[in-house]
Amino acid sequence: MLQTTKRPDSPVSIIGAGIAGAWQALLFAQAGHSVTLHERGDAAMTDSTSHWAGGMLAPWCEAEVAEPIISRLGQRSLDIWRRELPDTPFNGSLVVAHPRERNDFERFARMTEGHRRLDATSLAELEPSLEGRFRDALFFPTEGHVEPRRVLPKLHERIRAAGGTIKFDSNVSAKDLDGIVIDCRGLGARDEQPELRGVKGEMILIETGEVQLARPVRLIHPRWPLYVIPREDNLFMLGATSIEAEDTGVSVRSALELLGAAYAVHPAFGEARIIEFGSGLRPAFPDNLPRIGIRGERIAVNGLYRHGFLIAPALAELTLSYVERGQIDNEVMQCA
Ligand SMILES: Cc1cc2nc3c(=O)[nH]c(=O)nc-3n(C[C@H](O)[C@H](O)[C@H](O)COP(=O)(O)OP(=O)(O)OC[C@H]3O[C@@H](n4cnc5c(N)ncnc54)[C@H](O)[C@@H]3O)c2cc1C
Repeated sequence: MLQTTKRPDSPVSIIGAGIAGAWQALLFAQAGHSVTLHERGDAAMTDSTSHWAGGMLAPWCEAEVAEPIISRLGQRSLDIWRRELPDTPFNGSLVVAHPRERNDFERFARMTEGHRRLDATSLAELEPSLEGRFRDALFFPTEGHVEPRRVLPKLHERIRAAGGTIKFDSNVSAKDLDGIVIDCRGLGARDEQPELRGVKGEMILIETGEVQLARPVRLIHPRWPLYVIPREDNLFMLGATSIEAEDTGVSVRSALELLGAAYAVHPAFGEARIIEFGSGLRPAFPDNLPRIGIRGERIAVNGLYRHGFLIAPALAELTLSYVERGQIDNEVMQCA
């Protein structure tokens, strides 16, 4: 275990400026540590999984399939997002289904908490574009969403404002760094964590002025949680598949399913312009749970799987509590 007294002048190096590393860097810099964040890619972050994410902050919806630890970390993270980035939209999220998926919709309602049922009229009041589209919906009022390609630069800016240094195009190895090293390399950490695997998530970006949404809309689907997330400038992200594969292509089948989901939410999406197809590999351990691995001054934060934006702030808070006060969270931390 590390010294439990705070050493603000002890250097902290963080490797990887995706969502995991960015939150670690921000909380450590704010706590007065001398922080350097190394990222092997450039500021556009296109090599990171985080670049491709939906950015939903949805601990209650995710409880349908995820372990309780994800809800716990997610709910704590929502407080930290609110505290650190108060302009984060917390407009809630919606879950809808077509009649043939009725049973799965009811199952979703049973498996999750923190929602209320809207009838067609209340749904239309909340999202006028969805008037007449669905008989009812589940509304999770306290969930939020961020736009990864805007929020990562914002976090990087906040790290600098808190006194941290960010080095892009800096491909480093923990053994070359002094002091505390926090490894947030995602799938890049497989040299030291060979059990990590990539779970492919495909997405499509489309543009239309014909539909307005204020919050993510999930469409119950037999295989994947498909969703439409509004972005700025009339853009919508359609996501996401979940495939045990590590290529980064987008298949015709997946494209058809994603575009079909958008069309099912609103036929006006049929006229939308396709802007981008893409995919990212979610870093996952065999149990699909996140892990903070501790070996002396070497700390590895990884396995954020499909919840990186949801849980990264809470993981950073736990890491900081460990470094400053020696606090161990038995559910997430593994000490060598
Ligand atoms: C399509 C899709 C949709 C998703 N939607 C959501 C969502 O709605 N909500 C949610 O919470 N999560 C979502 N996720 C999951 C989320 O994207 C991941 O959990 C998260 O991005 C993982 O973040 P990370 O920081 O661990 O890894 P990454 O984002 O991959 O960051 C790791 C960084 O480390 C850098 N690196 C690697 N090796 C080195 C080195 N030697 N030196 C320096 N830098 C290095 C890499 O270049 C990379 O930038 C989604 C994922 C996908 C693919």
